[in-house]
Amino acid sequence: MINSHRQKPEGALVLNLSVLPDPEKERKEIIHRYRRLLRQAKPILKEGDARLIRKAFNLALEAHRNMRRKSGEPYIFHPLAVAEICVGEIGLGTTSIISALVHDVVEDTDIELADIEKMFGRKIARIVDGLTKIKGVFEQGTSAQAENFRKMLFTLSEDVRVILIKLADRLHNMRTLDSMPRQNQLRISSETIYLYAPLAHRLGLNVIKTELEDLYLKFTEQEDYEDITRRLEESKSIRIKFLRSFVQPIKEELDKLAVPYEIKSRPKSAFSIWNKMRKQNIPFDLVFDLFAIRIILQAPLEQEKSLCWQVYSIVTDYYTPNPDRLRDWISTPKANGYESLHTTVMAKNGQWVEVQIRTQRMDEIAEKGYAAHWKYKGNQAGYESNLEKWLLRVRELLERQDLTALEFVDDFRGNLFNEEVFVFTPRGELKTLPVGATALDFAFEIHSDIGATCIGAKVNQKLVPINHILKNGDQIEILTSAKQKPGEDWLRFVVSSKAKSRIKESLKEEQKKVVEEGKDIVSRKLRQLKIEAGPQTTEQLRFYLGEPSNFTLHFKFGKGIYSVNELRRFKEYRQSGAHKDKVRVQEAAQVSPLVIPTKPKSDDILLIGEDMDVVEYKLAKCCTPIPGDEVFGFISVNEGIKIHRSNCTNAPELLANHGNRVIKAKWTSQYEVSFLTGLKVIGTDRVGLINDVSKIISEELKVNMSSISFRSDAGAFEGEIMLYVTDTRHLDFLMGKLEKVDGVVRVSRFDSRPS
Ligand code: MN
Repeated sequence: MINSHRQKPEGALVLNLSVLPDPEKERKEIIHRYRRLLRQAKPILKEGDARLIRKAFNLALEAHRNMRRKSGEPYIFHPLAVAEICVGEIGLGTTSIISALVHDVVEDTDIELADIEKMFGRKIARIVDGLTKIKGVFEQGTSAQAENFRKMLFTLSEDVRVILIKLADRLHNMRTLDSMPRQNQLRISSETIYLYAPLAHRLGLNVIKTELEDLYLKFTEQEDYEDITRRLEESKSIRIKFLRSFVQPIKEELDKLAVPYEIKSRPKSAFSIWNKMRKQNIPFDLVFDLFAIRIILQAPLEQEKSLCWQVYSIVTDYYTPNPDRLRDWISTPKANGYESLHTTVMAKNGQWVEVQIRTQRMDEIAEKGYAAHWKYKGNQAGYESNLEKWLLRVRELLERQDLTALEFVDDFRGNLFNEEVFVFTPRGELKTLPVGATALDFAFEIHSDIGATCIGAKVNQKLVPINHILKNGDQIEILTSAKQKPGEDWLRFVVSSKAKSRIKESLKEEQKKVVEEGKDIVSRKLRQLKIEAGPQTTEQLRFYLGEPSNFTLHFKFGKGIYSVNELRRFKEYRQSGAHKDKVRVQEAAQVSPLVIPTKPKSDDILLIGEDMDVVEYKLAKCCTPIPGDEVFGFISVNEGIKIHRSNCTNAPELLANHGNRVIKAKWTSQYEVSFLTGLKVIGTDRVGLINDVSKIISEELKVNMSSISFRSDAGAFEGEIMLYVTDTRHLDFLMGKLEKVDGVVRVSRFDSRPS
């Protein structure tokens, strides 16, 4: 049945007989491998399949009979291995086994595609054709790889089996990369880490992905790879001991559940440890999460979710979980089909340990991808249709048309998600910003006018300052005020280049205006002082004040940093004749700061807790605190930390009865952001009073009102105004002004928002 034609070793000059292939031994090995493939495929074979597979095997064996791989092995080992990966590690069926067996014959031998089609039909011929073409795509060079890769996926992958078989092909080539020349090792490895490993990841083939990554490391960073694998081996006994004591209490509880389970612990892959060491710049000994513990339950489908959460509850009864590291991919599986419940808990020795909770079904899907589904969906007939469904799903995963070629590959590689943050507008439109972007970046992303007038934002309905850093999935509504202007400190609040350049532009515009104003002030006052204005006088004045340029001189007058009194003193100084002593003044000019000293603005931050940390908080609605208020934090049941004013009407109750939930909070200096507060105005009614009050607020004081309502009754009036102020000083000033309005008797701040 097997055509075992093979080159006979020839030539008496060959001295080392041990390296020569032994034809008989090889023939046996080939049969052995072929039978192993059949055994693996057996559970899924339909009638007639075995015959077709043998036909394909015989064709490949004959076609490659005179060929050897670089390692010296018979070539047929390769297609056999690829077919075995397809069935055993990816879960593909007969079509793929046949295609894998003959995948290299059209490329490397006399056999033509038409022969394949005649023997196995059109479907398999198309797949083999795709696999042959892919090779060509990759051989065009490396510069256009990303585009090629996409082309390969979109145009050649009419049948996604092409991609899956290609992945199996690559895996086997990586496993046997040893015998390749160094240059090829590097090229093939890079291609693997750049394209194939992310592809496997995307398809949910995690075992294959991990192996590809480790092989990449082995061939590119050999020393590191060996070092890490050796250290993993050395620390094995310690890990096992640790694991035993860690799972002991959990086991006791799990036994009570009466559900069969298994606890596994697999060390992290060499590649992921290496990656961590490199990214965090730490030695092996400091990589603490060297392994994850996996609890695998044998749960019936309908109880999967509740049992997994029950186990979660057991684990976290014994060990404190890190709330930031809870991942529930059971309620919402990952796009690649991954389902699991992850938590990271603190072991008794203070080490973080990741615990993965899942069922057997989820575990197989996690390891083998969608193909594992068939086992849980009934019989063989079910297998075929589920496989088709999975292949469809693979296609969907690959066909996301919204991405350009490079993004597509980058997306694979996960880079996009590390460097960018995805957020939403109130209407649900997706915006992409660099990681670290703030509410202000977002505002500028929407429109430069919105950015320039941004006073704060609501992120997921919560009021935040403009420098609030955005997280993936945040929904942001920008609050603006026509009175707002970009400040110098804004440059520290943004990371996107768009926001930065817009702010700089606007600061420049603003500076120019101030300089013009300064010029006016100086020339007007000089005139009053009867000093002749002109370039010479300006220069004298500049020396007198030690300013490096006319620009800074006028800027400071425009800003009010220099008052007109300086000009009076300048006049006296001039009269003393000292201005002729230029040398002294010039020295003074040199030591004067070259930077324009603007009024320093402090960070707008509320510090909370003993350590005065910056943490998330909400402002209590009952007393609407604003910066400058004396405040305290209260840990509410559902809404995290709430900030109340110390004189809030609810404060005594909270402080007295729930003292343990009260935490310190204090404002650091003032906000540039405005806060909403309420004022009550009481007085005697008169015509035009409302107009006068609102004029003071909006025009004279340039404060933004959110609402104003007045009631008048028998000559008395009562008004409620909601307005934006920056701090208590600002508010006091405003109240003083309002009290002076004719007819106003009393102005007070009110604590509850009108409903
Ligand atoms: Mn191949």
